[in-house]
Amino acid sequence: MFSPLKIKRKKIAAVSGVILIILFLVIGFIRQQYVLPILMYHSVRPFVALENRLVVSVNTFERQMNFLKKHNYNVLSLEDAAALIKDRKKLPPKSIVLTFDDGYKDNYTYAFPILEKYNFAATIFLIVSELDRPDRLSWKEINQMQDSGLISFGSHTINHVFLEYINSDEELKREIAGSKRMLEEKLKKPLNSFSYPMGRFNAKVRQFVIDAGYKVAVVTNPGKGYPNNDVFILKRLRISENANNLFIFWIKTSGYYNFIREQRHK
Ligand SMILES: [Zn+2]
Repeated sequence: MFSPLKIKRKKIAAVSGVILIILFLVIGFIRQQYVLPILMYHSVRPFVALENRLVVSVNTFERQMNFLKKHNYNVLSLEDAAALIKDRKKLPPKSIVLTFDDGYKDNYTYAFPILEKYNFAATIFLIVSELDRPDRLSWKEINQMQDSGLISFGSHTINHVFLEYINSDEELKREIAGSKRMLEEKLKKPLNSFSYPMGRFNAKVRQFVIDAGYKVAVVTNPGKGYPNNDVFILKRLRISENANNLFIFWIKTSGYYNFIREQRHK
C-alpha cells in the first residue's frame, strides 16, 4: 500500500528537481550574455547640464571610480582586455575597461588625478587635428599622462569624420592609418587602439583598421547583429551624468547591460 505521505514527498521531490534544472538553465543562459563592460566617457568637468550626454561631473566621476575600487573591480587596460578576448581566455572576475573619446583637456585636469589616485588604467582616443586647441589636450599633457604608465592613447582619426561615407580609399587610409603614424611619431611608441568617430563603421572601414595594424577598435552600440567578441568592433557603454545614481552605474558595469539594451532595441 502507498501511503499518501510518500506520494506527496515524491511529488515535491520531482517538482523541486524540475525547478532546479530550470534555474540552472536560466543561470547558464544569463551567464552567456556577459559582455566585458567597456565604459565610454568624453568630458569630465565640475559643472554639468544633465541633458549633455557627453559630460560627467568631477564629483560623479570620483564617486564612480570609488565604487569600482570599493567593490574590487579589475580595471584592465583596453589592450590587455582585447588580447584576452581575442585568445578566448577567461577575463578576471569583475573586469572593466575605461575609455575617453575626443581628447578633452579636462581628461588631464580632472579625470587623470582621480585615475592616479585609484591607480586605474584608461585609454584616451585623440583627434589629431584638434590637439593643442584650448579645450583639447596638449602634447605636454599627453606625454605626462603616458609617462605615468596608467594612460595609453588611441586614434580617433585626424578629422573625426563619418568613415562609412568616405569613398576615397586614400582618404580613408589617411584617417585610419595616417592618424596612427602621426600619433606614433609624437608618442614615440606603437599605438594599437582605434575608436570609430560617432561609433560608425562598416565592413570596409573595419578592414582598413585591421590593415593599418591596430590590435583593437571600439564602437558604441552597433546592435544585436554584431558579435560581442570581435576585437575590431568592441561594444562600449556610454556613461553620462545620469549614472551619478550608483545603482544605474552598477547595472551598467555588471556586464549584462549590453544584453538588456539589445533586448530593448530589437
Ligand atoms: Zn568622438
